[in-house]
Amino acid sequence: MAAQTDVSTTADTTNTVTSPDSANPVDLGPAAALSCRECGHRVPLGPVFACEECFGPLEIAYDFSAYETEDLRKRIEAGPANIWRYAPLLPVPADVAEKPNINPGWTKLVQADNLARELGVTPGKLFVKDDSGNPTHSFKDRVVAQAIEAARAFNFTTLSCSSTGNLAGAVGAAAARAGFRSCVFIPHDLEQGKIVMAAVYGGELVGIEGNYDDVNRFCSELIGDPAGEGWGFVNVNLRPYYAEGSKTLAYEICEQLGWRLPDQLVIPIASGSQLTKIDKGLQELIKLGLVEDKPYKIFGAQAEGCSPVSVAYKAGHDVVRPQKPNTIAKSLAIGNPADGPYVLDIARRTGGAVEDVNDEQVVDAIKLLAQTEGIFAETAGGVTVGVAKKLIENGLLDPTLTTVVLNTGDGLKTLDAVASDTGLTATIRPNLDSFREAGLAS
Ligand SMILES: *Cc1c(COP(=O)(O)O)cnc(C)c1O
Ligand SMILES: [Zn+2]
Repeated sequence: MAAQTDVSTTADTTNTVTSPDSANPVDLGPAAALSCRECGHRVPLGPVFACEECFGPLEIAYDFSAYETEDLRKRIEAGPANIWRYAPLLPVPADVAEKPNINPGWTKLVQADNLARELGVTPGKLFVKDDSGNPTHSFKDRVVAQAIEAARAFNFTTLSCSSTGNLAGAVGAAAARAGFRSCVFIPHDLEQGKIVMAAVYGGELVGIEGNYDDVNRFCSELIGDPAGEGWGFVNVNLRPYYAEGSKTLAYEICEQLGWRLPDQLVIPIASGSQLTKIDKGLQELIKLGLVEDKPYKIFGAQAEGCSPVSVAYKAGHDVVRPQKPNTIAKSLAIGNPADGPYVLDIARRTGGAVEDVNDEQVVDAIKLLAQTEGIFAETAGGVTVGVAKKLIENGLLDPTLTTVVLNTGDGLKTLDAVASDTGLTATIRPNLDSFREAGLAS
C-alpha cells in the first residue's frame, strides 16, 4: 500500500527553492513548502513564520507520496538511535545524520509500574517518556536540532532564541557543536542551574529585566532591526522548522510501544507547540499506515501559576487570555502561549482535557516520581505527573488504558524546587555507636 500524502501536491511543486541569499537550492528532504495553518496559503521554504495573507502561523507541508509503508518502517528501524531515524518525516536533508549535530532523541519509555500502583492505574499500562536523557537534559534538544538544519540551509551564521532556560542551553550546545555563533536571551532571574547550563557552552547569554513574554517581545523587535540581521531565531523566524522536532516524541512513543498508539497522553504546555506537534506526528503515523487508525486522547498540563490554557479550557473559551506567570515551573511559564487555541482544539477534538496543579502538588509529584521510579524530573515533569494524578482522581483519565506521561526535563536543573523538602537523614560521627544512636541500624 502506498502511503497517503499529508498535503496535496501539484506537478510543478518541487521541494527545492532558492534561498534569498544563496545560489544553492534549499534541500530539506520531504519538506515541500510552508503552509498557513489558518488559510492554507502556501509559500516556498524560507526563514518566515507568519502568513502574508492572514498573519496565521506557517507550518511545514510535506510530500510523503513516494513512501510505501513497510519500506518506510524498515528504513526507520534500521536508522540511528536518535531522532534522525525519522529523517524521512522531518524537514532535514537525507544525509543529516552525518552533519555535526548533538543528535538527541531515542530517550527511554519507562514502564512505570510502581507509579501506576500509587496512582491506581492498571499495572503495565502507565509509561513515562523520559526526555531528561537528551544531551542538554531537556526535550528542547529535539527542536533545536531541526532549527540548526534550517539555519544551515538558509545560511544563517548566528543562532538565537528567547528562552525560559532550557532552550538557551540547547541552542548553546547545538551551536557549539555545529560551529555557529550563539546569542540567546532569558529572563534575568532564572534558576541558577539553567543559567550555568546555558552559559557553559560558551555562547553569549543575555539576561533581560522582565519575564519571558518581555524577552519574546524584545526578540521580535530585534528580528526586524539591522542589529539582528543574519540571525536565525530558532523559535521565531525558524519556528516552523523548530516545531517539527516535537513530532519525534510521537514517533518514538509509538515505535517504542511496538508501533501502537497510546490511548492517552499527558503533555506539558508552555507555548503549546510541543503538544500541537505531537498530535501532528500521531496523525502522520496514522496516515502513513505505520500505526492503526484508532482514537487517542491528548491531555494538556499546566502549573496553576501560569495556566492560561487550562483556564480557557475549563471556561469553554476558544481564545486564551494572557496571564502574568508566577510558578516554580519556570520552563512552562509562558503567559501568552502562541499555540494556545490549537491546544484547546486538540484537547476537545480528541476527548482529552487541560488541567493544572499548584506548586505544592508539583513538588509532591516530583518526589512521587523519584521515589517510585527513580526518575528525577524538573518542575515540568512534576506538572505532568501531578496533572495525571489529578485527572485520574477526577475521572477524566481512564486508569485502565495505556497512558504516556511526558517528563521533559532533568531535576538537576531545578534543584531549588525540592531543596527545602529534602536533605540529610542524619549527621553522625564516623563510628558505629553514633550510627546506632541515630536509629539507622538494621
Ligand atoms: C519548552 C518546554 C516544554 C514545552 O514547550 P512548548 O512551548 O509548549 O512547546 C516542556 N517542558 C520543558 C521542560 C520545556 O523546556
Ligand atoms: Zn494565512
